Amino acid sequence: MTTNKNSRFDKWAYLDKDVLLRIFMILNVVDLIRGACVCTSWQEAASEPSLWKMVDLSKLEARNFNRQPESQHLVLVSGRTPNLKRLVLPVRNNDISVNEFEEAAKNWPNLESLTIPCSFPVKFMKAIGKHCKNLYELKIMRRFDTDCAETILAYAPNLKVLSLRCNMVHREAMLRLLKEMKHLQVLNISHCLILDHSPNPGFMSVLSKLDKVILEEASRLEKFIFCKNDSCHICQLQISTNGILFWSRYDEGIWLTDEVCTLAH
Ligand SMILES: [Zn+2]
Repeated sequence: MTTNKNSRFDKWAYLDKDVLLRIFMILNVVDLIRGACVCTSWQEAASEPSLWKMVDLSKLEARNFNRQPESQHLVLVSGRTPNLKRLVLPVRNNDISVNEFEEAAKNWPNLESLTIPCSFPVKFMKAIGKHCKNLYELKIMRRFDTDCAETILAYAPNLKVLSLRCNMVHREAMLRLLKEMKHLQVLNISHCLILDHSPNPGFMSVLSKLDKVILEEASRLEKFIFCKNDSCHICQLQISTNGILFWSRYDEGIWLTDEVCTLAH
């Protein structure tokens, strides 16, 4: 009995490395780490650098709603990904503690690109600013106000690419970034509702189109992506739902045409 089990195990252990890599490529990060713990040959295959260029924790959550990615997963993943270039955080990140996020960020000195799918905690950006000095690309998927702008200016001042696609964006916050982020080259505000101060104190109004001041400030950018006409069905949907799409991750089909290609995954 024991011999048969060992023999079956040996067959798995000696699977061709290319076959293993193909399987590992479709696993989420936690399952990949589990796979690496099975045996030496699997560990060797799981160490292939091409498997770790990008870590998308939002996919992990999408496949299993009952299992939120936890802080320990993040630290575990960071230990295995010292050369990580791109990270997508989980959609719900409330369970990730600031200390453990900082522990993870320490292992990512080469991180260049970050997507924060939902809330935008200052605590994360502080750790990023301290340990990930090479970050030049950021995607935020939540309301973008002056607090967000100040956080970016403080902790990611060298950004070259910023995507706010499908958000509610405060005009004042966007203007501040355009004026103060000297390295910014690409800004995506497609399908965003642009909010400005209303004559009624405490209220915001939605701009029907971008004004001259914004367009002038943005003219220095290499690429400024925005919706130029009223016929965009996603913009119309944004207006009719009061910007509820701001949390939406993807609209398959147009995703690759209205997002900076390095952020469309
Ligand atoms: Zn649009």
